[in-house]
Order: sequence, then structure tokens, then C-alpha cells
Amino acid sequence: MAVLVTGGAGYIGSHTVVFLKEQAEEVILLDHLQTGHRQAVRGDAFYEGDLRDGDLLDRIFTEHDIDAVVHFAAHSLVGESAADPLKYYENNLYGTLCLLRKMIRHDVNRIVFSSTAAVYGEPERLPIREMDPTRPTNPYGETKRAIEKMLHWCEQAHGVQSVSLRYFNAAGAWPGGEMGEDHDPETHLIPLVLQTALGERKEIAIFGDDYPTRDGTCIRDYIHVIDLAQAHALALDRLRRGEGSGVYNLGNGEGFSVREVINAARKVTGREIPIRVTPRRPGDPAVLVASSDKARSELGWQPKYPRLEEMIDHAWNWHRSHPKGYGSRRGEWGISR
Ligand code: UDP
Repeated sequence: MAVLVTGGAGYIGSHTVVFLKEQAEEVILLDHLQTGHRQAVRGDAFYEGDLRDGDLLDRIFTEHDIDAVVHFAAHSLVGESAADPLKYYENNLYGTLCLLRKMIRHDVNRIVFSSTAAVYGEPERLPIREMDPTRPTNPYGETKRAIEKMLHWCEQAHGVQSVSLRYFNAAGAWPGGEMGEDHDPETHLIPLVLQTALGERKEIAIFGDDYPTRDGTCIRDYIHVIDLAQAHALALDRLRRGEGSGVYNLGNGEGFSVREVINAARKVTGREIPIRVTPRRPGDPAVLVASSDKARSELGWQPKYPRLEEMIDHAWNWHRSHPKGYGSRRGEWGISR
């Protein structure tokens, strides 16, 4: 039996592929490499292409004995989604629709779906729980929520079982720095802070210091990418045991402010990291912190790297050995933990 990982050359996808390989899974990758990296491709077979390419999906499902799909492939920039919503409806929502059609046609009825905390929008209470209202405030979160609903109806009609994992702020890298985060443009806090520590950027902008939080900067729930990978493996186990569909938050339940992240990075790197306070970024809630009790109790999920400094340390190993991301070095691989 093999697992198809869509978006397997992206940040979270590539770490999950390696994690699944360590669990002796046969892993088939599909990625159109628009945001993923060829150098991040691992696994047993790789298909370069798009979810909307029906002939390609027919080929993949015919050539391999696939019993489950782990579905990462998506655009994921909140700001871009607000500027170009149809790009997100086209790639994320319609792409998933095409994938589901082919899964149903080839009798593949298990899917682990990469969802997001962005489905909640501005939270009514903290920590956020899965049953809390979902009111996305941007097209990215809206398309992810629409896919969760599409999965629900495909279960009713076709028996497709799904686990949707709502990630909070993914962070960190493979501990030795062999694999990590490489976005173009980079918009995420921790990589930007570490690129500043490296001197690749002049300063880190703090988007607002007048929020109603302990130091005025936004609080987020950072979660190590390997702990996310672990959750996907556990979700697959759940589906294979026939325990049914579910929706789970993945976070640490503890939030850190932007200033706390920068201070932790100063400690880990021993570098100064200049800052500049700028106006708020539109659409940023003051605090986003998850309750992941459900994932712990139902999936048996136990984060291995819950400490912020450890996440930053692993990310630092990646950034300083790859200051230009995957473009820095090629053909290097060796996994150690
Ligand atoms: N942030 C910041 N400066 C940056 C990038 C991000 O102050 O250059 C803040 C952002 O406002 C948010 C937090 O850092 O409060 C995490 O942002 P990121 O884009 O990493 O993740 P998000 O929470 O938007 O998914």
C-alpha cells in the first residue's frame, strides 16, 4: 500500500514525506513545483504536475496501489489570497475537487487534509477549540473551510473518510538543518527574523506594538513542523483503523509574542537582530492560541518539540547552512535527529 502526498515538495509536505518514510511507508509525491522545491523531493516516486490534470491523476492511481492521500497542495499566502481570490478558489478549492473526483473513481477513500487556523478568523474565546465558530476573514481561510465542508459531503455521498488538521503557526526545520522553510516571497516571522540575524535583511519589522497583549505585540501558537508531520502519520493510522473522520487543531496551547520570538532568536543565534516597529498588518488578530486536547486524546498526538527555542534552533541550523534556501546547496542529504 502506498500513500499519495500532494504538495510533497513544500515546507510541511517535505518534512511529512521524510517522517512517513521513516515509518516504512511507500510514499508517492505529486507537486507542480510552483512553490515547492525539487531539492526537497524525497519518497519513492515523484510526479511533477497539477491536481487538475485528470490524466496524470488517473496514471498515478493506476500505477501505484494507493490507499490514502495526504493533501497539502495549495497556495497559502493570506495577503495574496485577498488580492487574487480566484487564484485560491481555482487552485485550492477546484484542485481539491478534481483530486476527490479521481479518488472516488479509483476507490481511494481516505484523505488527510492540510487545513488552517485561518478558518476561525477572529476568535471569540481562547484557546480556540474545534467546535468554535468558523468565520474566515480572507479567501485563503475561506477556501480551506470550503474544502472541509466538501469533504464532509463526500463522506455522506461516497464514504470518503477524512481528517482535517488545522495548523496554527508551523515553525522549525529538520533538526540538523538538512531541510527547512524556503518561501519566495518569505512572509513568516521566524524565517524573517533568522534572515535578519544572518544579515540577509537589515531589520525585522514588528507589525504593531499596540495590541492588547502583555507586550503589545501579536501572540501566536508556534508548532514544530516535525510535530505536524507526526500528526499526519497518526491521522493516517486513525483512518486505516476505521475510526472515522475528524477535525483537529494542531498547536502547543501556548502563545508567544512577536517580541518574545525575536528575543528567543537573539538568544539562540547570539546575534543582535535590529527591529523596527511599523503599523499593524491588516487582518492580524491580537492572539491566536489553540487547544489541541482533541488531537492528543483522539489521535494520541504528543508534540516532541514544544519549546520555542528548540524550534528556532532547528530553523537556525537550516538558515545558516542554507542562507539562500534550497538554492544554496544541491544534492546534500543526510538525516539526523
Ligand atoms: N510578523 C511581524 N513581522 C513580520 C512578519 C510577521 O511582526 O515581518 C507578525 C505577524 O503580524 C503575526 C506574527 O508575526 O502576528 C506571525 O506572523 P506569520 O506571518 O509568521 O504567521 P501568521 O500568524 O500570519 O500565520
